[in-house]
Amino acid sequence: MVDLQVATITGANSVLGNEAIEEFRGNLRGRLILPDDHKYDDARKLWNANIDKHPVLIVRCVGVADVIEAVNFARANDLLVSVRGGGHSFPGTSVADGGMVIDLTDMNSVRVDPVGRTARAEGGTKWGDLDRETQAFGLATIGGTNSDTGIGGLTLGGGMGWLGGKYGLACDNLVSVDVVTADGQFRTASATENPDLFWAVRGGGGNFGVVTSFVYQLHQVETLLAGMIVYPLDQAKDVLKFYHEFTGSMPDEVNTGAALLNLPDGTPTVAVVACYNGPIEEGEKALRPLREFGSPIVDQIGPMSYQEVQHLVDAATPDDHQYYEKSHYFKDLPDEAIDILIDHFKKAPSSMTLPFFQQLGNAANRVPVADTAFGHRDARYNLILISIWEDPGESEIHVKWTRDLWTALEPYSTGGVYINNIGWDGDGDGDLALAAFGPNYRRLSEVKNTYDPTNLFRHNQNIKPTA
Ligand code: FAD
Repeated sequence: MVDLQVATITGANSVLGNEAIEEFRGNLRGRLILPDDHKYDDARKLWNANIDKHPVLIVRCVGVADVIEAVNFARANDLLVSVRGGGHSFPGTSVADGGMVIDLTDMNSVRVDPVGRTARAEGGTKWGDLDRETQAFGLATIGGTNSDTGIGGLTLGGGMGWLGGKYGLACDNLVSVDVVTADGQFRTASATENPDLFWAVRGGGGNFGVVTSFVYQLHQVETLLAGMIVYPLDQAKDVLKFYHEFTGSMPDEVNTGAALLNLPDGTPTVAVVACYNGPIEEGEKALRPLREFGSPIVDQIGPMSYQEVQHLVDAATPDDHQYYEKSHYFKDLPDEAIDILIDHFKKAPSSMTLPFFQQLGNAANRVPVADTAFGHRDARYNLILISIWEDPGESEIHVKWTRDLWTALEPYSTGGVYINNIGWDGDGDGDLALAAFGPNYRRLSEVKNTYDPTNLFRHNQNIKPTA
């Protein structure tokens, strides 16, 4: 073993001696992966194949004690540190080039309390695993629409999902969190314990420490009426106009998404996905206007389990592909914005590319903006412009296409962006982080002053301390 050159929070490099590294390794129950480890390349890999970062230390924590050890070691050595939950951030904030990754992949246990209707899940759990455990009891909480994403990043940023019409965002369903803060202290945050921290982690992202476990409120979720209706692209303008009308007057049991996409055979289409969470007969009535509209190619809506719903759109974002995305919030969807979107989609340089409207949901919209750190309760949709391609050499044209469309749509958006959908150019600081936290930014920096005054947790959509 040799000494290692590492990146620090000051931006300079420093050298970590072999002895210090070996002592640190000896204090861990989990594995310390260094660049000469045969597991290194696998361990640094993220879902987005376009991210190719080389951290110097990857700490595969297996419990809270490892997390405390890693935070203390990072702070004592001024290391640039990142936190990895499910590894699905588009810009790859969970891996710090040259620094240390506090990797929670192996911390993925889930315990359901069916009587109290809560679930405690460790910080590295993925949605597919949490849903499987809660559904064993006929229960569920609000998760993202892709089973492979992590509960960590998604919940801390807000978390939109199919049950959002009735139950709000994932963060609205948090009962408490356990956090290791920058001083290495283990803290529980809830409505009654460290309430400032509890407020901040519900939308403020990974800025306040490493969340070692999340406790979620669960709800009884039985068979749902859900699926996709697909129309040819030449009906896209009418479909999106109708879609916007529909989402303006639907009951809380419904939540929706809509996308422009090419079918596997290359047919360009517009698709609406709807999910009704309630009695199937009521759902048939609620979704009828949508199902009677236009001339769809296919209507796949039918009864299905929550786990089936949670896998509905998995195939649209396969592993080992290159990704770039940007996003806007919309309250309204004027005709001009729809025209721009459709015209631009027709010129997309990849047939896999996918602009996707995700609806926050009626209940998510009703929560007062000051109640949690999530700053955009007034937006009806998050429009995510997801570019997907295979050849890393082509990145420039796909990034340009996405940025051009984002700029063209900006005048029609609220001006806010979803913290979990900031692209690489918003990686960290600047206007996009401000736009992501909106009216709650000032209060968030005050909480940051309390729990992370030196900004140890900065490799994220960063809230700067002002202390
Ligand atoms: P990671 O890359 O592991 O982490 C991202 C950041 O989150 C880290 O840099 C860190 O700052 C923080 N973080 C993660 N875990 C912890 C922790 N335990 N403690 C402290 N900080 C932590 N979002 C939605 O709201 N709804 C959706 O339906 C949805 N669908 C998606 C589908 C796909 C295919 C993808 C790629 C993303 C989707 N997203 C969705 C966006 C998603 O919320 C973000 O990509 C999120 O960052 C993923 O979380 P992760 O833990 O997997 O990410």
